[in-house]
Amino acid sequence: MVNKERLVELFLEMISVNTPAKQEKVLVDIIQPKLESMGLSCVRDVAHLVTGGDCGNLIATLPGNVEGAPPIFFSSHFDTVEATPDIKIIVEDGVIKSDGTTILGADDKGGMSPIIEGIHTIIEQNIPHGDIQLLLTVSEEIGLLGARYIDQGLIRARMGFVLDTGPPVGTIVVTAPTQETLDVTIHGKPAHAGFEPEKGISAIQVAARAINRMKLGRIDHETTANVGIINGGKATNIVCPEVKLRLEARSRNVTKLAHQVTHMRDVFEDVAEEFGARVDVRVNHMYDGYRLSSTDDVVKIANKAAENLGLPTGLREAGGGSDANYFNSFGIPTCVLATGMKQIHTHEEHIAIDDLVRSANWVVEIVKVAACEAGK
Ligand code: ZN
Ligand code: CA
Repeated sequence: MVNKERLVELFLEMISVNTPAKQEKVLVDIIQPKLESMGLSCVRDVAHLVTGGDCGNLIATLPGNVEGAPPIFFSSHFDTVEATPDIKIIVEDGVIKSDGTTILGADDKGGMSPIIEGIHTIIEQNIPHGDIQLLLTVSEEIGLLGARYIDQGLIRARMGFVLDTGPPVGTIVVTAPTQETLDVTIHGKPAHAGFEPEKGISAIQVAARAINRMKLGRIDHETTANVGIINGGKATNIVCPEVKLRLEARSRNVTKLAHQVTHMRDVFEDVAEEFGARVDVRVNHMYDGYRLSSTDDVVKIANKAAENLGLPTGLREAGGGSDANYFNSFGIPTCVLATGMKQIHTHEEHIAIDDLVRSANWVVEIVKVAACEAGK
């Protein structure tokens, strides 16, 4: 069993530090010495030179004490979706929450603290284990940037577990979509809206008709699309000459994704032509999806460990990306483990202490199950 008091104390310490994306150093400076004092060797990479943050990813390694176990990693991210400079933490009826004026930061400190407590327990109780790495990333919330630019040469693990999704603890995300975004600029033609509107081409009307004609929202069970941002126009008496939009599409099926993105581009181009306007569409590939199966070792180990602990089990599909998308694209099979974080990205975010404990025990059990692979 893990040390519940120590775990809660660590979690509370972590969430009381303000770490929006690109400002993680203050927390990395707290966590690294803790890991070093536990006996892990730590390296910070230089991902921040690309991402523009104040600190790189922290990669910590604990050499195994048994032969033949597969090297595994656990991962979570330091940054929170919003800044929490004046966070007020409330612990009530076994649940940790903010006072409602900020997020809590259980995403993802509710993943990282159980990882650290789990490893602490393994070392303290001299539990047999193979090589274990912790890939603790930065700037996840602004496009998985830390994972994207992590120094892959530092990763020795051959499979991994990212603790970064909601409960029930024990369930496992085995597939996530590929995402692409579209940056669209519609070039119309300005004219005085009162004197000679017929000389203008309204980029706003082009955008409106295109959006109206576009398949958006839930396209099918594994494909979604959304117009997220629209900007344009200066005055009511000017026929609007330019509108900029940002859209996205995701699918767990790359063929369907390509279809949807082509459809979105075609609609803009067709409608622009109807109006005599011009449109620039730039498609950005954000990250690759992945699909693991129940027979992959990484899934079998996580699932067996959850079963051993009597946790609810089940393989889930995700609608969004996580650092696991990049780790999988590096060729390292990686699944996402459910944690206790609830209502993330809102000020109602909260986490149950029992779920923190369940996650930490799950980490320990995964290490044990993986070590049992030794000699098989
Ligand atoms: Zn997260
Ligand atoms: Ca998040």
